[in-house]
Amino acid sequence: MQDNHGAIEEGLRRFNVYARGHLGLALLISFGLLVLLKVKDFNAVLVAAIATALSTLPDVDLKLGLPHRKYTHNVTVGVIAGVAVGILFLDTSIGFLGGFLGGFGGVLLHLIGDAFTHRSFKPFLPFSGLEVGFKVFRSSNRLVNEGFLCLGLAVTALYIIIVHAKLLNPW
Ligand SMILES: [Zn+2]
Repeated sequence: MQDNHGAIEEGLRRFNVYARGHLGLALLISFGLLVLLKVKDFNAVLVAAIATALSTLPDVDLKLGLPHRKYTHNVTVGVIAGVAVGILFLDTSIGFLGGFLGGFGGVLLHLIGDAFTHRSFKPFLPFSGLEVGFKVFRSSNRLVNEGFLCLGLAVTALYIIIVHAKLLNPW
């Protein structure tokens, strides 16, 4: 019982460290795309925000004490999350498709981030058992996680400055 409690506390600690990197990467990619495409539409911002919020979802296995990166780290979970969020946003301005993009995109962004770490996993289950793990950095690397968070926040600030406030115009 004591051991189990300790394992869940350790899982929570790891979740919080990884979450910073995943939120940062999601902001970096989603708001980076909005900057590059000069998208001003509020609906697109909402989809990007949903994707960012759900970019930590697959690591819920750490909180639940499930084997890490086994059941929650694949595109099938992405589709399930997409459908669930799509239904949730059915009667809003972004509709089912916007909600689906946010949910699926969030899980996909998570898998992209994890793909560059050391611990390989199978992102295409149950369609393919292909293992992915490019071993560029460790998921526990604080510098990498904090770095992505800073970069993501910087790009989001840039998005507001360039696209909305029009204070800079690199195009
Ligand atoms: Zn993960």
